[in-house]
Amino acid sequence: MLYTMNDVLKEAKSKGYAVGAFNFHNQDVLEAILNAAEELNSPVIVQTTPPYIQNLGLEVCSVMAKELIKRCKIPVVLHLDHGNSFDLAQKCLVNGFSSIMFDGSKLPLKDNIKYTKQVCDACHALGVSVEGELGAIGGVEDNMVEGQSNNLIIPEEAQIFVEETDVDVLAPAIGTAHGIYKEEPILDFARLKKVRSLTTCYLALHGGSGLTEEQYREMIIIGINKINVGTELKLGWANTVKKAIEAGITEPMKIRSQCLIDVREIVKNKIRIFGSENRAQ
Ligand SMILES: [Zn+2]
Repeated sequence: MLYTMNDVLKEAKSKGYAVGAFNFHNQDVLEAILNAAEELNSPVIVQTTPPYIQNLGLEVCSVMAKELIKRCKIPVVLHLDHGNSFDLAQKCLVNGFSSIMFDGSKLPLKDNIKYTKQVCDACHALGVSVEGELGAIGGVEDNMVEGQSNNLIIPEEAQIFVEETDVDVLAPAIGTAHGIYKEEPILDFARLKKVRSLTTCYLALHGGSGLTEEQYREMIIIGINKINVGTELKLGWANTVKKAIEAGITEPMKIRSQCLIDVREIVKNKIRIFGSENRAQ
């Protein structure tokens, strides 16, 4: 069943767990995510980025996602990750996405507020939740260059941003990065605590691939309610394809079956760590 972000994060915030937001790049990964969440009776967020929307085609991507979500008993949010324009946000709304991110983090604060608020006004009128970003989360995701360095969020700006935009979810830059970590990330827990104390919205963690269980748990205790995982699923899918071909398997149906099994295990592991197992209602 299709739910909004507010529907699934309300209980996560009150009961102190996080819901995984898993990026899909094709049907195999999307099905693996949904199968994992169904198996563990967990709410789940499935999301994709503008480059993949372009790659798959928005209509094809949304019809596929909505059809697969319709078959699920658990609550599923269909979310636009790192939306980069009002136009794309509108198109995703028309195509049935139940949650939209507008990433204005590269803009000056004033403009980030202005454009995020525009997206919020349009989405809220339809009961759709919105995620915004403040500070700049480094690294590269889906070939979208997001800046090489982390500009960490300024908590006082977070308070202003949330109050003025009425955003439902905020992604604060606190030291995580997209892609693969080349060295141990330094996470600014104190900064996250300050952001939590100055804001009332839900908080999302980007760059969730490759962190330790300890790091996830610490951030959930402080108040993270949504954790994005993309890179680990991409690598999981690619490794399965590579192994199959190395083993002489070239039949796509067989490779897809193995991808569904392998990626599902990665997602199940995250769901258990995030604490959302058996939280579907
Ligand atoms: Zn991100």
